[in-house]
Amino acid sequence: MTSHSLRVGSVEIVEFLDTPMAFPFGAFFPSVPAQEFEAYKQVYPQSHAPDGRFQTYAQCYLVRSDGRTVLVDTGVGPGPIEWLGGAGGRLLDDMSGKGVKLEDVDTVVFTHLHGDHVGWNVRREGGGYRATFPRARYLVPQADWDHFTSPAMLEQSGAKQTVVPLKGLGALDLFSGEITLAEGVTTIPTPGHTPGHTSVLVSSQGERAIITGDLAHHPAQVDQTEWCSAFDGESPQAIESRSKVFEQLESEGLTAAICHFPPPGFGKLVRLEGRRVFRAL
Ligand SMILES: [Zn+2]
Repeated sequence: MTSHSLRVGSVEIVEFLDTPMAFPFGAFFPSVPAQEFEAYKQVYPQSHAPDGRFQTYAQCYLVRSDGRTVLVDTGVGPGPIEWLGGAGGRLLDDMSGKGVKLEDVDTVVFTHLHGDHVGWNVRREGGGYRATFPRARYLVPQADWDHFTSPAMLEQSGAKQTVVPLKGLGALDLFSGEITLAEGVTTIPTPGHTPGHTSVLVSSQGERAIITGDLAHHPAQVDQTEWCSAFDGESPQAIESRSKVFEQLESEGLTAAICHFPPPGFGKLVRLEGRRVFRAL
């Protein structure tokens, strides 16, 4: 049975779905001939929309460990969102439906600062902003902060409305490398998709899982690690990080929690007839 929560030793990971979304394969993966994905349609039907587009999802994961509550990414945010046809995400509804209050979250950590991972950071109030998660410290990878708030990127990245206000609210901390977020919960740098792209390792009582952020979007990429999306900023580095983490997930039998795979995104990487495949839990 599909469950939206996963136990890793004494740690619990809960998945929230902010929104489904679909894009033409050619636009999302311009360097991969669309027919290459056809071979994976049978294996991963939920990643193929009935109209032939790439079906993907925006998820966030909540990690509960030893009294701490860490939210990994904040989705696309409230609507109207132009590229979602004016719709918006429903993260807060999903959280409340699963019994999580906004004030429960003490840490928000970002895998990276793309718009579909930072959307619910702040809400507009009067002429200013307030933090959506009022008790939380928001932890931003330093290299992503430097990149997405540079003069060239600030306007087009959307960070001005979603990330920069956190600084004014005194809720933002920058980090680099491996840091401890809670007991058994640490960041691991996996750059390439963005300069500061980060994954989150959960390790407890001999069990381990990795929340992989945007190391992949379509499950075929666990095998075709050289396939890059249009959003992989530095392709060679993205391929290197993807290959390294997926190799580890397979060889050490870890559980993966993958943003953008069909919900809940929990699975194992296993070998089947010579190919590495994502097997959902
Ligand atoms: Zn993403």
